[in-house]
Amino acid sequence: MKPNIYTIPLKQLASGEILSLQVYKFTGNQTGKKAYIQANLHGAEISGNAVIHRLIEFLMTLDNRKLIGEILLIPVCNPEGVNSRSHQFSSGRYNTYDGKDWNRIFWDYEKEDIDLEAFAKSQVNLTEVEIKNNYRQQILHSFHRQSEKINSPSSVPFYKQYRYQLQSLCLDADYLIDLHSSTNQSLDYFYCFHGREESAKSFLLDYGILMGDGEYDGDAFDEAFFKPWLALERSLKKLGKAIQFEIESWTLELGSGMKMNPESVEKGIRGVKNYLANKGMLKIPEFPLVETASHQIDLISRKGMKRYYAPVGGMIQNRVEPGRVVKQNQRIYQILNFNKNRELPKVIDIFAETDGLILDNSINHSVNQGDYVLGIISKNN
Ligand SMILES: [Zn+2]
Repeated sequence: MKPNIYTIPLKQLASGEILSLQVYKFTGNQTGKKAYIQANLHGAEISGNAVIHRLIEFLMTLDNRKLIGEILLIPVCNPEGVNSRSHQFSSGRYNTYDGKDWNRIFWDYEKEDIDLEAFAKSQVNLTEVEIKNNYRQQILHSFHRQSEKINSPSSVPFYKQYRYQLQSLCLDADYLIDLHSSTNQSLDYFYCFHGREESAKSFLLDYGILMGDGEYDGDAFDEAFFKPWLALERSLKKLGKAIQFEIESWTLELGSGMKMNPESVEKGIRGVKNYLANKGMLKIPEFPLVETASHQIDLISRKGMKRYYAPVGGMIQNRVEPGRVVKQNQRIYQILNFNKNRELPKVIDIFAETDGLILDNSINHSVNQGDYVLGIISKNN
């Protein structure tokens, strides 16, 4: 099976060059679900590009009867973020023009002026498939109204043009996977929306952050796609019609920033293949893997993620590494703290507030006061 490869111009620079997206689209010989997978929305988070490359190579070994539906793959999906540098460091988490986080800019249907309750009432006697189609049409109709403004003489800031291009490719998908990594040195984990815990097992990852009701604002890519569907499920439930739409959205965090750690890439490709096989989109030997049903995930609520920031400036030493379990009041790192008071330097111990697992460590061991140092996930917070 060969992909249809096409490019989408994204942004013309002052010097005339054009930054573009490139889409790899695989289409099965039977129609079915649509999966959308992108990587590298944050500039330093490159491991998903290797996952997409491996997926392209794998899909090319299959004939098109093995794919039901279509898969869109977009590596390096944020050229501006990908290319950002400060010395040899990739600094593309924030747009340098306006300071916005590249993953907090997306269009959320729920923030439009919509009357979801009225819509839910109008659909209550229809089938799940009919409701899904009707709602999707509403979302797309509302979304595409942005193009008038974009194409008007006054136009809109680039982040709105960018999100329009990216979301145009995915808003009609059934499954969305956004491949990130930590910007820091980190374990592999993922974000899971409430109600989708069973599906989450397919990724075969050990750790997940559970996003409970109301713990997401719709600005992130995965949230913008999925939040309106969760809202409709809630409205319909109030009317006595409990439906879980076959629509899902995931963010996978595959290892550390500025690296393509082979183990993280391996977990990513295995998880994505297993997920697509589990959803019936890929008919491939051995998948879904037998261990899927019994796979245990340490699923921790967002509130169970404790971030530690430097209380003073200095240099980090003797820090506990990702993957290690710590106890409350255990020392988790030290800061070598200098002064300009004609006093000797000090070494300050920092202790864990709770028991938990070290999830990540900042890459830079030099910290200004308030810089991020490490994250601990804990079930007891
Ligand atoms: Zn990210």
